[in-house]
Amino acid sequence: MQLLLDLHPDAYPLEGFRRRQLLEWVFVHGAADFSAMTSLSAGVRAELSEQYTLNPFRSIETVRSTDGSVKYLFTLPDGRQMEAVYMPYLDRKTICVSTMVGCPAKCAFCATGALGFGRNLTAGEVVGQILAVARGEGIAPRELRNLVFMGMGEPLLNYDATMLAARILLHPLALGMSKRRVTLSTVGLPKGIRRLAAEDDLGIKLAISLHAPDEETRQRIIPTAHANTIQEIMASAREYQAVTGRRVTFEYAMLRGVNDQLWQAELLADLLRGLVSHVNLIPMNPWEGSGFEESSEQQLQAFYDALEQRGVEVSVRRSRGRDAGAACGQLALKQPGAGVSASA
Ligand code: SF4
Repeated sequence: MQLLLDLHPDAYPLEGFRRRQLLEWVFVHGAADFSAMTSLSAGVRAELSEQYTLNPFRSIETVRSTDGSVKYLFTLPDGRQMEAVYMPYLDRKTICVSTMVGCPAKCAFCATGALGFGRNLTAGEVVGQILAVARGEGIAPRELRNLVFMGMGEPLLNYDATMLAARILLHPLALGMSKRRVTLSTVGLPKGIRRLAAEDDLGIKLAISLHAPDEETRQRIIPTAHANTIQEIMASAREYQAVTGRRVTFEYAMLRGVNDQLWQAELLADLLRGLVSHVNLIPMNPWEGSGFEESSEQQLQAFYDALEQRGVEVSVRRSRGRDAGAACGQLALKQPGAGVSASA
């Protein structure tokens, strides 16, 4: 049995009009089962269900936050677990999806990093998160108009599956998302960033989790960061911008006494000079055992002001769903066995 969602829309079974009908059932109506596809003949439905499956998940649990965000914990057929978060704010229904079970980047402040690496997700397991969330929320899949590859995992280390998932998201006969509303968030892998820049049919947005402007602090926060210097990352961001013409976002988790000092704001502003960029300051979402604390409001404001005074475009992005364990990996971390290893 093959997961249908792993296919590029142009490779879907059936021909012509019937293929369009099939795509419409999957991505417009969000059908969970071939038997629901009543415009296809019973014979075609039976053939499809013999060869393909539509459901990548063994089970799905949800945790609803008082701020409206909903965390989805997916258990895959091999027993491993990963998460997506639905954020229905104002007119922007946004979903944050995972590209891996766990993550090899091991960022010290991140609950997913503490889980370690389980495995890469397939494109269908990424796209399946969107369809499952739409179903869970009782909305059409295409109502989810904003997507961030910012859940569990480093998307550029699961490159092919992430690119295929992105192409399914953007395909007009699939989810039909706008490339301006799809953002890939990376820990900062120069080779992957250059590769992404060259995907000229995609044009999705790039966010780099910098988290510190100096090597010592960055390597403390992201132990795997020694493989790529900040200079190399910034050079690849500049190349990305030169090729795509797109603004680059920098994510910066504010950690008390670690990366929130004013000299670091000055250094960050120096790094960004000449680059069309935006900095998101993210008050850290504390979780038990992380060893980090969030910056004080006063320090956050001082850091913000220091950047703004130096001409940096900056905003503060408050974490959603704190009471639902919003930091990625928090929910899986609470599961017995921590969710990244396979089970029967
Ligand atoms: S912050 Fe992102 S890149 Fe870092 S460990 Fe967590 S999921 Fe991986």
